[in-house]
Amino acid sequence: MSSETRAKHNKYAREWHHRNKEKRNAYMREYRRNVRKQVLQLLGGKCTYCGCDTFEALEINHKNGGGTEESNKRKGGRSSTSLVMEIHMERRGTDDLEIACIVCNAWHKAVKLNGLLDGWNITWSPQPLS
Ligand SMILES: [Zn+2]
Repeated sequence: MSSETRAKHNKYAREWHHRNKEKRNAYMREYRRNVRKQVLQLLGGKCTYCGCDTFEALEINHKNGGGTEESNKRKGGRSSTSLVMEIHMERRGTDDLEIACIVCNAWHKAVKLNGLLDGWNITWSPQPLS
C-alpha cells in the first residue's frame, strides 16, 4: 500500500469509527451482556441463597468479602478489565466467588461480613408487577 493510499485508508477508518459510534457502542454493550451471561452461567446461573435466576438481578459475590479491594487494585493497576472479563479470559479462578441476587448480596454483606444479627428470611417467588 502506498503511503497515500494508507493515509486515505486511515482517514476512512477514522471517519467510519466516528460515524458508527452508536452502532459500536450498542455492539459492545451486547457483547459485554453476553459475556456476563456466560460467566453467570459458569457460576451456576442463579442466586446461591434464594435461587433467583433473574439475570438482571444477579451479581458476582466474593464469598469472603474483599470485592471492593480487588476492584480498586484492578483500577490502581490501570486495567479496565472487569471481574467478569477476568473470569471470561480464565485469568482468574472462581473458587472464592458465588452468585447472589442483589437482595441476598446485601444480606450477605450485612450478616456474614458485618456481623449483623440474622433475622431475614429471603424467599424468591417471581410474579409480574401488578
Ligand atoms: Zn437471592
